[in-house]
Order: sequence, then C-alpha cells, then structure tokens
Amino acid sequence: MNDIRNDFPQISDALAYLDNAATSFKPQCVIDALSDFYSEYNANARRGLYDLSVKATQMLEESRKTIATFIGANAKEIVFTSGTTDSINVLANMLEISPSDEVAICLTEHHSNMLPWRGRTRKITYINCDKTGYFKKSEIAKINASTKVVAVTAYSNVLGENLQLKEIIAKAHNVGAFVVVDAAQAAAHMKIDVKELDADFLAFSGHKVYGPMGIGVLYGKEALLAKLQPGKYGGEMVDEVTTKDFVLTEMPARFEAGTINVAGAVGLARALEYLQEKNFPDLISYEQKLCTYAFNKLREVPYLELASARSLTQGFSSQVCFWIHDVHSHDIASILNSNNIAIRAGFMCAQPLIESFGNGPICRVSLSFYNTYAEIDRLVEVLKTVRKQMGLDG
Ligand code: PMP
Repeated sequence: MNDIRNDFPQISDALAYLDNAATSFKPQCVIDALSDFYSEYNANARRGLYDLSVKATQMLEESRKTIATFIGANAKEIVFTSGTTDSINVLANMLEISPSDEVAICLTEHHSNMLPWRGRTRKITYINCDKTGYFKKSEIAKINASTKVVAVTAYSNVLGENLQLKEIIAKAHNVGAFVVVDAAQAAAHMKIDVKELDADFLAFSGHKVYGPMGIGVLYGKEALLAKLQPGKYGGEMVDEVTTKDFVLTEMPARFEAGTINVAGAVGLARALEYLQEKNFPDLISYEQKLCTYAFNKLREVPYLELASARSLTQGFSSQVCFWIHDVHSHDIASILNSNNIAIRAGFMCAQPLIESFGNGPICRVSLSFYNTYAEIDRLVEVLKTVRKQMGLDG
C-alpha cells in the first residue's frame, strides 16, 4: 500500500482525498509521460512529414492500441475525444434520430448521458429504477420498436455497478436500438470488455482512470462506425476538399477533427499500463474491501442514512452515498473540508436520480485503491461531530 501511495505525488497524510469519482490523482509515471512528451516529442500528429511529427503520430497510434486492448476493442474502434461528455455529445451528433424515434434514458444516468440526447430530441422515455438502482421488468419493457438509442451507465456515480447492464443491452438489441454505455466510472473500477458486453458505443474519460484531463474515448463497433457520418468537422479528417465536395479519410481519424490531445492520449495509455503493472484485479478487490469497511463504519454515525449498497453486496462499488438528517450536504462537506477531508456534496450531476430518492442533495465518499482504512476512520470521527457542530443534539 505504501508503495502505491508513493507512486502518487499528490497523496499526503494531511489530506484524505475521498472524491475519486470526480477525478483521480495521477501516478508519477503519467506525469512523466506528459512531461516527456512536451519536453521531447511535442509536434502535431498526422500532419508533418518531418521526423518529430512522425514520432508524435506513432506515439498517438501506439497509445490507441494500448487503450483498445484495455477494453477488448481494436484500434480502429477507438475515437479520441476530450472526455466522456464530449464523446456522448459527438455521438449524439453522429446518430440519425428521426422525429418518430425515441431515446430511452436510464434514470441512473449522469447528466452527460442524458442532456446530449435531450438536446437532440424531445421524445425521451425514462427507464426508472428504485432506490437501489433496480430496474423492474416493466421499466425495461419500455424499450420498444420505436426506441433508437438506449443510454445506460455501466457504473453509476451514485449507486455503483449497474447489475442489469447486460439485460438492458440485450433488450435494446432485441428491438434494434443502439446502446450507448457510459463507462466514465466503470473504467476505473471494473474490467470492461466491450465485446463481451456487446456495447455498440461506450465512452470514458482519461482523468477518472488515473490519466490526464482533456482526453477521452468514444468506442464504437467498427461496423457501426463505418456507417456513420462524423459528429464534428475540421482539419485532418478528410483526404480531399474542393469547394463543392470532400472525401472523408479513413477510420477513426475521420471522427477526430482538429488537433488531437496527443500528450493526453500518451498519458492515458501510460495510466492504463500502470493499472496493469499493479495488477488491476487486485486493486479493484482492495477497493471493494475498503468500500465495505466504509459502508459498515458509516452505519455507526448517528442520524446518518445510507443510500443503496446493492452493488456493494452483489457487484462493484467504490463509493458510499449518504445524508445526515437535518444537515445540508454542503455543510457536511464544509465541515469535512475544515478537517482536511475532501468529499463531494450535492446532486452529483445526476439530479433526476437523486431527486427520486426524496431526501435532497447527497454526500458521496468515493474511493480509490490508494485510500486507507485510517482515512475512513478519520472521516467517521468527524461525521460523528457534524450535528453537534451545526447546533443540533444539545
Ligand atoms: N458519467 C459519469 C457516470 C460520471 O461520473 C462523469 C463524471 N462525473 C461523467 C459521465 C462525465 O465525465 P467528464 O466530466 O469527464 O466528461
């Protein structure tokens, strides 16, 4: 554990950083990869005929292969974007959605897998879930022959793993709909295999998986991508342009208009290699144990109400969400902050889901494999004092 903590220069015993679902700290090897790129290899990829640009292009394509392998895809299926939000927006522009088509959105979705679709159409059907994130059969049955797209997360940033992901994907395919899987959280906390999942499209961000900010991935099945028009247009995505017409270049470059964040791609690939070097399954299993510990310790706090832990007992979760009765979540987060403990409070960019719980804004503790049992103990000790600090409980 100490070895792992030493790999992350931002980790210190002073701050308990428990907001990893928002973004993760970076290991030194990722910082070095970025720094090496900018100090030695910086050039625009896919443009220059000189050595430096050729090298940058090679680095970009090598990174693409590493990232593709990490999720069981082939390199042609990996489109670089600036993050999950960008990936889903680009995809929403790529898919044709006619006025009669419906888009089905799971209630668990982050705003990033909700609003891009709402920006495209008003014909939205919500696949509702209960407080534990369970989708009843009758909800899944709302996916029907008019459904063009199903937006579903693999791992909610509030509830953890979506235990019915495969069922939802199968239903979508049954009616001929495309499935768009948000893997922003999943990428960091569970093994993803796009082929096994049979996801049509899948998105994740570099920064949540120990890579840099400003880089992300849109995966699409090769045969589907081949039929789609780009979601954005600009330089280096065409082979020929006349004033009348243009010819798109090959895949996936045709979907990557403008300068690509090559350093980001290199940094993301390095982050994924790091996870493999440290044995990703072991890291996940430690996180699971830590999360179970946090869940049980938080039960000790008077007036604290936990949100569901269905995925904690049956699948994967690295986060615990809760309320403390009569105290606003922002006050809880501020009190923790003054004790050098960082958590997230509010609606987690998943307001429809959190509103459905009926308890108002929530607090979220989200863990990484570099967090410790001692940090959880520290959190719980402060939480026990929150109501008193707010003038409640005498
Ligand atoms: N989906 C989920 C489940 C997320 O947790 C997040 C980030 N909080 C996003 C999408 C959006 O990711 P980004 O801000 O990196 O685009």
